[in-house]
Amino acid sequence: MDASSIITSLNDDQRLAVSAPMQAMLVLAGAGSGKTRVLVHRIAWHIQVNQISPYNILAVTFTNKAANEMRHRIEDLLETPAHAMWIGTFHGLAHRLLRQHAKQAKLPDTFQVMDSDDQLRIIKRLMKNLNLDDSKWPPKQAQWFINAQKDEGIRAKHMQDSGDFYNRQMKDVYLAYEDVCQRSGLVDFAELLLRAHELLRDNEDLLAFYKQRFQQVHVDEFQDTNTIQYAWLRLLTEGNNNLFVVGDDDQSIYGWRGAKIENIFNFQKHYPEHGIVRLEQNYRSSGHILKAANTLIANNDNRMGKELWTDAGEGQAISLYSAFNEQDEAYFVVEKIRQWVRDGGLRSDTAILYRSNAQSRQFEERLMTTATPYRVYGGLRFFERMEIKNALAYLRLSTNPHDDPSFERVVNTPTRGIGAKTLDDMRILAREQQLSLWQAALAMLEHNQLPARAANALRGFLNLIVALGETTKELSLHETVKQVVETSGLIELYKKEKQDKGEARVENLEELVNAARLFDYDSENAENMGELDMFLAHAALEAGEMQGEVDEDCVQLMTLHSAKGLEFKLVFLVGLEEGLFPSQQALDDAGRLQEERRLCYVGITRAMQQLYLTHAESRRLYGKDSYPRASRFLRELPQESIQEIRLRANVSRPAANSAPQTKSLGSKGTYKLGQPVRHEKFGEGVVLQMEGEGEQERVQINFRNAGIKWLMLAYAKLDAA
Ligand code: ATP
Ligand code: MG
Repeated sequence: MDASSIITSLNDDQRLAVSAPMQAMLVLAGAGSGKTRVLVHRIAWHIQVNQISPYNILAVTFTNKAANEMRHRIEDLLETPAHAMWIGTFHGLAHRLLRQHAKQAKLPDTFQVMDSDDQLRIIKRLMKNLNLDDSKWPPKQAQWFINAQKDEGIRAKHMQDSGDFYNRQMKDVYLAYEDVCQRSGLVDFAELLLRAHELLRDNEDLLAFYKQRFQQVHVDEFQDTNTIQYAWLRLLTEGNNNLFVVGDDDQSIYGWRGAKIENIFNFQKHYPEHGIVRLEQNYRSSGHILKAANTLIANNDNRMGKELWTDAGEGQAISLYSAFNEQDEAYFVVEKIRQWVRDGGLRSDTAILYRSNAQSRQFEERLMTTATPYRVYGGLRFFERMEIKNALAYLRLSTNPHDDPSFERVVNTPTRGIGAKTLDDMRILAREQQLSLWQAALAMLEHNQLPARAANALRGFLNLIVALGETTKELSLHETVKQVVETSGLIELYKKEKQDKGEARVENLEELVNAARLFDYDSENAENMGELDMFLAHAALEAGEMQGEVDEDCVQLMTLHSAKGLEFKLVFLVGLEEGLFPSQQALDDAGRLQEERRLCYVGITRAMQQLYLTHAESRRLYGKDSYPRASRFLRELPQESIQEIRLRANVSRPAANSAPQTKSLGSKGTYKLGQPVRHEKFGEGVVLQMEGEGEQERVQINFRNAGIKWLMLAYAKLDAA
């Protein structure tokens, strides 16, 4: 293949960036202007034209999905595989480094990555040990505090002893937390980054090796790097002037999690010899959509200032729908999607984007009712489901028995008669003697400190774990998973569980075995990393991205945050209400409000052909009813690009505010879409639809706790709620 094909499909500015001399570069440009495309072509250019081996290339992306896509696109351009290239997220790459150099990173070989649930569990336990009252010292806040320190590169021992009582307490928690993690070989997400930084900083030879290896370093979505991530990039590229970053200040949406937009300025300062390219043509969206995005974001200040244009024509106007409640909203959106599909569109070209994960449920239920395949990113996380986490805990213990959160999770799941008292004693012993729970359990058995029944039960559990570790050494990954799922007793446990729930759990466990079978283990490249360790890390790190692998054509559901960098032909931006989007916390914080506006800009610019904006006039969320005002962002859009949709000819609107008297409902016509009802057994719910006549008359109700059900009116005892 000749080099020209790498640049023929680019515009002049993009070409400039792709073919620039080997030097530090900043591509600063708005959404959909081809930043990611430039990054991909730049890497291909290095390999093809500058004769740099893929082995010498490092690229950081925002999600694992983006990393895979990038690799494929580069391979397509080059028409040859590029295994040796390191492409991944900051977390994924940090994990890889730590795995390969565990000793130098002062970690046990068997260290495990834990997710934020496990982290919180440990912190809760520690705070209890320190006698800190939950209500005054919420563990979640402590977790937040610790992660924020780590994101800034600060260890507990580095924290200033300020006079602040809160800080002193938090420092104690942080110290104790570091200690437990170190002893149990557990690494949280923030720790991955911090430790990978320390690893390179403190090991001169290693740093020299990687600096030599990574001749060109590339970063997508640079505006969302935090302090420690940037520090890590700097270590790798300092003096070599070989850092290529692309970003958009208007899409910085992780300030609340420590991302530093200032890194763009820092870059310009730290790499004085850099080139800058700005891209202004947008290739993604049609005119109205782009205009809306430009107009909205102009309300922010301190922007680096860019305006996007397109030659794609105006396209369709943006549609705005005011739903009367969240169910009507879901109804509307799903109907539009079904229409799209009837007209020959693909479901995978459509996306429903929301501010908060909790919003997905309404859409999921409606999609389910209409048998429309869909996929949720981030929300219902496959690897975070209870049964999956239990199975993973067994797997983790089988490779590292000192993993305390895993120990806690399954020591009595399924129940095996290890009582609360035994566990408490174990925790106390562990705390006093600085042991892992595993070691404490062994010690208690050794010193005969337990009643015979408890001792037997505990011994049974320990033996089970040891046996799992032994047998699985011989097996392939998916056989290992299968073995663990079966001998742990989990399958049996869930089979006994009532109704669909248990069945679904069993299916999920089977899906886990399947996921292990499909796990794409790049052994060629993984050097000394065990397959099981990689799989477990994958489960922790990609929890938010995967929901079983499905090939089916699916509607895409995700939060606005996880939509970054993606594009869809048809986009629904839902829940545009004050207090939801912008979020409650942003309402009286000018800085956060601007970040919400950037998030809205990200949302709008995901759409290629058609964009729908919706809000509901009444909404039940987190168990509370509200009557929110429409989002201010709607008012900030150019009215000439917006078309309001008025339908509802066939649905009558329940009076949002009036509280109807309790009365028995029975005859046709009494039901309205969205009407609240109560059922003796299923509790509160809302009417979704009605059908049939006379004896056959049925009504479909979405019960808050019991889910969606069809009931025969003749038999259902329904009251107005
Ligand atoms: P975001 O800020 O949302 O991450 P981006 O700047 O990274 O966007 P890309 O995703 O790289 O933009 O490109 C947006 C769309 O425009 C993609 O579909 C891409 O293939 C297309 N595109 C970019 N440049 C060109 C070009 N020169 N010719 C044709 N299509 C292009
Ligand atoms: Mg991009």
